[in-house]
Amino acid sequence: MARLEFRLPSHVVMGEGALEELPDTVSGLGCSEALVVTDPTVKRLYGGRVEEALRRAGIRASFYVITASDMGNVDAARRVHAEQGACAVVGLGGGRSIDVGKYTAYLEGKPFVSVPTAISHDGFASPIVALKDKDLNPVSLFTRPPDAVIVDTGVIAGAPRRLLASGVGDLVAKLTSVADARLARLFKAEEVPELALRMAESAARIVMDNIGEIASWSERGLRLLAEAGLLAGSAMSVAGSSRPCSGAEHLFSHAIDKVYPERRSLHGEQVGVGAIMMAYLHRMDWEAIREALRAVGAPTTAEELGVPAEKVVEALTIAHTLRKRFTVLGEGGLTREAAERLARATGVI
Ligand SMILES: [Zn+2]
Repeated sequence: MARLEFRLPSHVVMGEGALEELPDTVSGLGCSEALVVTDPTVKRLYGGRVEEALRRAGIRASFYVITASDMGNVDAARRVHAEQGACAVVGLGGGRSIDVGKYTAYLEGKPFVSVPTAISHDGFASPIVALKDKDLNPVSLFTRPPDAVIVDTGVIAGAPRRLLASGVGDLVAKLTSVADARLARLFKAEEVPELALRMAESAARIVMDNIGEIASWSERGLRLLAEAGLLAGSAMSVAGSSRPCSGAEHLFSHAIDKVYPERRSLHGEQVGVGAIMMAYLHRMDWEAIREALRAVGAPTTAEELGVPAEKVVEALTIAHTLRKRFTVLGEGGLTREAAERLARATGVI
């Protein structure tokens, strides 16, 4: 068996007002020049507050405001980083700011502080970066986990509910991604550390077992969602890949991106619908997943996703081709007839 070796965030702060810990966290990294990667909306909402708090602690902040999460933005953020002589990168915002910040820090060999303002997927504590390359093709890179993670539930509470519901979709989906990893062990002798699988499974269980509390978007509910996200992100660090957190339900989501590029649905929304269908194939309790998604107002049908039924069926038939990763879809994938039956049986179409 391969040796087990991994890194995890060394400092985590979660709860109401956690943002106040940012200056101490950056100072704790021995740094007094921080590059903050953020987006225009988040900068308007929190930029002044963050800059002022850092300044009071003797830390000079410069901002890079992203326009998209692509390599061009990473290159531009690196230029600002170099001009400033920054010694740490802070990603402040949604998934895109975190991805650009995380990759910038990784390429510059500097510590990264992840400060999510929404939990729309599992990336805020993970070592994975999802970006678009120069030709706008999606790339997923294994880098390093953030050195510190700060989740202010007071800030998260202000995020659009739709983003948080999308996060629930990405997290309950660990039930099927873990089942796929276990299948791959049986069929392909693919080894994923048991620790990583248990962590990913627990992330999904935290959400499933507390769905009422989460659906009320109480402080405790948001905290549970953040804890689940931290656990899922850490599972990928332990595994050394996205394997425990990304199975056939993610392949389905990538397939939707491909067959229906004009989609308006979010990653976690697509993954959640994918998880309903893949749980059916695994003979798991797919209805419980659907109930959890319904409870938070996440889409459970093609119509709610805003994706035409025939595109869902088409996506199901090509999903297995999108990545060399063994899942419940097998190597040959679903026939058109089987795909349609699956989508109908689960009420997705
Ligand atoms: Zn995901």
